[in-house]
Amino acid sequence: MVLSPKSTFSLELYSITTEHTEIEINPMDITYDIQPTNLASIDDRGLLSLSNEAKTGNQIDVYANYEGFTTQITITVKYSLENTIVASNSEIPKITNQESTAVLVNKQRSLEDNYIPTDLVQPNIPFSFTGESEKKWLREEAARALEQLFDQAKQENIQLNGVSGYRSYQTQKSIFNWNVQEQGEEQARRYSAYPGTSEHQTGLAIDVSSPSVNNVLEESLGSTKEGQWLAEHAAEFGFIIRYPQDKEHITGYAYEPWHLRYVGKEIASEIMGHNITLEEYFDESTPVITE
Ligand SMILES: [Zn+2]
Repeated sequence: MVLSPKSTFSLELYSITTEHTEIEINPMDITYDIQPTNLASIDDRGLLSLSNEAKTGNQIDVYANYEGFTTQITITVKYSLENTIVASNSEIPKITNQESTAVLVNKQRSLEDNYIPTDLVQPNIPFSFTGESEKKWLREEAARALEQLFDQAKQENIQLNGVSGYRSYQTQKSIFNWNVQEQGEEQARRYSAYPGTSEHQTGLAIDVSSPSVNNVLEESLGSTKEGQWLAEHAAEFGFIIRYPQDKEHITGYAYEPWHLRYVGKEIASEIMGHNITLEEYFDESTPVITE
């Protein structure tokens, strides 16, 4: 069985199969042993929780003991897309792990209309605009990591500004509908995210730019020293350049050197170190259809 780091899973053992027969059991009567003991814990109802020490690649053996019988379950720790979408009435399947920092959102995987992260905060960084706005918000873990990234950039004389962080479903819907009116649905779908499929709704993504290019969100940022610094150092703080050059056939989006996505240091270093995308990280071989 594969489980994502920090996840929980209910073992729900109601029977044990032996050589000869299957025995019905009460989950409360099972005792468990876990090896290594520091990587997971299990409560008396069989709810298994991976500890913060359980990292990608670890193997955990769980032994369930019941009246002299033992069943062994081996768990591999790895971020996985298993069980992360369900079919929906609308055309795009819905994501079930919306709160995970490893959540994969793209043109084939939609957030729920009503999904609003519960821990949105405003990071203490300079923005390209003044005044209150949801665009200044990020989820807390991403916000704290972004503050560290901005601090380090400043120390190295790299000037960055936050441009656009969290975007609610409603805001994305307005933007999309406006684009449909202006350009027709086909063009709108090509250049803007269908409501529910914008990564900005997760509160884990932010567009950043630099005064050196007047804070625009354009490809030219990628060749500035600020854009290059971002590509080189983002992973140290748990961020990736989510839409790299020449990966449109995989991500569904053209190059966006300004769009940072928080995934945590472990996944970020893997992705940026191997020049891959979040889709490729999950071995998602199905390319995203862009038209
Ligand atoms: Zn963006």
